[in-house]
Amino acid sequence: MQAVEKVKISDAEWEIMRVVWTLKQATSKEINAVLQEKMAWKPATTKTLIGRLVKKGALATEAVGNRFIYSAAVSEEAEIKEATSDILAHICNRKAGESIAHLLEEATLSHDDVAMLEELLQKKKTEAVDVVACDCVPGQCNCQHFSR
Ligand SMILES: [Zn+2]
Repeated sequence: MQAVEKVKISDAEWEIMRVVWTLKQATSKEINAVLQEKMAWKPATTKTLIGRLVKKGALATEAVGNRFIYSAAVSEEAEIKEATSDILAHICNRKAGESIAHLLEEATLSHDDVAMLEELLQKKKTEAVDVVACDCVPGQCNCQHFSR
């Protein structure tokens, strides 16, 4: 696993990555079989998406006989973290709390999850600020007064 540039995985590519993360190693036929019902992709579509992921460095390929075996070159944990941090990178710092609250409302959580979040919130409480600083470019949010 080499530290290359950050890999951006599209929605369709996420479907492929999840199969590979689960199976550890898979052929395009095996990947297609898992996604057949959910995505109804033709084998060629699956192959195209796999090709993109190999090019991006998210999948590694190994030729075994006349087949190609794919394995993940990026970890699931790292990609999930990356994708969730991406959401916050797209919005004003001042909207982070509201957005996280929205995610919380949407999610079904276990008692363990809730306990973990409560613990985290206790820690956040000690670090909380009166007003979250906005570091947006003027004109990209309404926090700062700017003149046109
Ligand atoms: Zn802002």
